[in-house]
Amino acid sequence: MQILDGTLVAAHIKEQLKTEVDALKSSTGKTPHLAAILVGNNPASEAYVGHKVKTCAELGFESTLLRFDTSISQRDLVNEVRKLNEDSSVDGILVQLPLPDHIEPDMIINTIDPAKDVDGFHPISQGKMMLGQPTFLPATPYGILLMLEHYNIDVAGKHCVVIGRSNIVGTPMTILLSRNGKPGNATVTLCHSRTRNLKDLTLQADVIVAAIGKPKFVTADMVREGAIVIDVGINRIDDPTKKSGSRLVGDVDFDNVAPLCSYITPVPKGVGPMTICGLMKNTLEAAKLPKPVYN
Ligand code: NAD
Repeated sequence: MQILDGTLVAAHIKEQLKTEVDALKSSTGKTPHLAAILVGNNPASEAYVGHKVKTCAELGFESTLLRFDTSISQRDLVNEVRKLNEDSSVDGILVQLPLPDHIEPDMIINTIDPAKDVDGFHPISQGKMMLGQPTFLPATPYGILLMLEHYNIDVAGKHCVVIGRSNIVGTPMTILLSRNGKPGNATVTLCHSRTRNLKDLTLQADVIVAAIGKPKFVTADMVREGAIVIDVGINRIDDPTKKSGSRLVGDVDFDNVAPLCSYITPVPKGVGPMTICGLMKNTLEAAKLPKPVYN
């Protein structure tokens, strides 16, 4: 069994990105600039945005963090996104989800200029991805592809079972794994909360991608010998042995599943750091695009 080490792969990719950023700066004077919007102070969201801002600094990107109280109206948040669209110094816009209940996430995401949609959530980005056209790929599935590439894991012809159908992880993952590309050409089954006999399907899987949001949901009896397991889940569970009283676990029962696998991602230090790489690669690409002029 080999651990797919997200921290290690991310370190390699970040080194490449630093070199590319330096080259961009010296040839054009341009510094990639990511603007992040955080509404409220959900501790998990704070941590995710904090990592992204810190990585920008590490790579020599500029970043701006705009914080708003949960009382901000949908209309005002839309206007804040529009201001970032019109700000030619901003290359990438990220709106940290989830948003408060009174704000429709689609309204906000649809407002982002697709040329700055570095999280790859805009319908235009998702549509282009589905059609196989060049676009910003959603950061987490993109990060998983980068991880597979790094370890030379060829999924062509393999049966991949993706559990979870969110627009940001599960569904785009199925499209990217099945497209005629590299990595790609897999045969994919998408499972979700209404799937019957999930275990029968996962037991046929060469590759399992778990994106459910339920701690240790994928158990050893669901995984066949030699499978590749990608655990996207990030769940906080109580752990009185920790100073904080809690720890992070994935959607996979790592201790019991890992011995069966040929490759497995840990949580933390698996998919999480790769998601940030996906975002940073998208932001660098966005910085290379010509900026539209708004009147
Ligand atoms: P979501 O909450 O939007 O969707 C969960 C999916 O799980 C749904 O499609 C649902 O149909 C499916 N599901 C629920 N119960 C199920 C069951 N019993 N059997 C089969 N499927 C079931 O999920 P999301 O936003 O894709 O996030 C999933 C997990 O991944 C969460 O833990 C989230 O925190 C984590 N996440 C991690 C990263 C990262 O960078 N590592 C990025 C995004 C999300």
